[in-house]
Amino acid sequence: MEKKVKKSEADWKKELTPEEYHITREKGTERAFTGKYWDFHGKGIYRCVCCGSELFDSETKFESGSGWPSFYTPVNGSRIDEERDPTFGMIRTEVKCSKCGAHLGHVFNDGPKPTWLRYCINSAALKFEEKK
Ligand code: FE
Repeated sequence: MEKKVKKSEADWKKELTPEEYHITREKGTERAFTGKYWDFHGKGIYRCVCCGSELFDSETKFESGSGWPSFYTPVNGSRIDEERDPTFGMIRTEVKCSKCGAHLGHVFNDGPKPTWLRYCINSAALKFEEKK
């Protein structure tokens, strides 16, 4: 089991931009079509902006039309925690980084083959790293 990353709110605030902090530590959502990755097509790995854990591979990214970067699977199910989220009058499934608890986005069951899942993730929760 990988070691968890635990930091105080003050430390996260110091290390992250205000937007990254709001989204990952306060469960914020960036406005659709505004993030840096929804229309980005680099080949590589998307890491957690907070702790660097490898979360998503560009091979599994697809055009969802939602305005947020969308993936049909995480790199590994153990990298992600899912939690029932009843806020805003909907029942959704929140997706979090299992290593540091960062809020990433939500997962919906209207994705493409082969999983039929759509991991709808905030760009500000991710840090892209090009494949060498
Ligand atoms: Fe993390």
